[in-house]
Amino acid sequence: MLEKNILLIHTGGTISMSEDTSGAVKPGAKNPLTEEAQILSGLANLIVEEPFNLPSPHITPKEMMTLKRIIEHHYNQGGIDGVVITHGTDTLEETAYFLDLTVQADLPIVVTGAMRSSNEIGADGLYNLISSIRVALSREAKGKGVLIVLNDEIHTAENATKTHTSNVSTFQSPQYGPIGIVTKRGIFFHHMPASRENYQIEDPSKRVVLIKAHAGMDSSLLLAVKELQVDGVVIEALGQGNLPPSAMEGIRALISDNIPVVIVSRCFNGVVQDIYGYEGGGKHLKDCGVIFSNGLNGQKARIKLLIALAMTNNMKEIDKMFSL
Ligand code: ASP
Repeated sequence: MLEKNILLIHTGGTISMSEDTSGAVKPGAKNPLTEEAQILSGLANLIVEEPFNLPSPHITPKEMMTLKRIIEHHYNQGGIDGVVITHGTDTLEETAYFLDLTVQADLPIVVTGAMRSSNEIGADGLYNLISSIRVALSREAKGKGVLIVLNDEIHTAENATKTHTSNVSTFQSPQYGPIGIVTKRGIFFHHMPASRENYQIEDPSKRVVLIKAHAGMDSSLLLAVKELQVDGVVIEALGQGNLPPSAMEGIRALISDNIPVVIVSRCFNGVVQDIYGYEGGGKHLKDCGVIFSNGLNGQKARIKLLIALAMTNNMKEIDKMFSL
């Protein structure tokens, strides 16, 4: 009799797909992971949920919210020791970070996926799934936030990002590295996240757009976004957090409309800071009311702004959340 219970939630993605004779990778009528139940049941008692079967480019905050509710429902009923979610890798980091910031449940939550579908040579799905269940069962996984486990590495939802289009070692945590590793003999953590945030939200339905800055960027896109009446804007700015002067008209227009503008860097290492005092420089942006993020990448800052806007539209409070 196995002692521990794992809630296993399948959501789709390559890990749940197969390659057909033409070489196309796609979902079938049946999720191939359910055929692995025999192997997996040797690890823990599995409570399996499959709320949807979507490629991850089809995932929206609505599905993220569904996952949050399923986890909290099982947690509040009692009897589960950990959660493992299988997910497409394209937006895996966004779902993982959303859950990290919002789930009210004190137990290990691991998100995993695969780069090769179930019947391809060197398929990594089942291996990653077994690793993830082992991580979710380990005592040390508790209290570290939502974890991303693929390719024998354990990453935090906050820092991990998909770095390669096809390689199985795609998930990396630039600047920080993994917080643990998975080996044949055990699960070994070597870092502890320095801080954790958690927010209670009901409806993440605000509209937040993500824009990438470039040399010579002007204000046209920012002014168009203002006309679309979005609720928030995240900009992947240049270097330490700077924009071309020609973008400033758009920035001022958004802020004067009380639309929060959050900047991150398009560099994937380091944080944004108010250093440069020239037109469009970080200091200038800060003086205009732009909010600086705390080292998140663009897609995660967007998730955080969605969550912030689900709680408040007070600029000062949103600014404070991004300084954590
Ligand atoms: N395009 C796929 C998805 O995100 C990629 C994967 O799962 O690895 O659903």
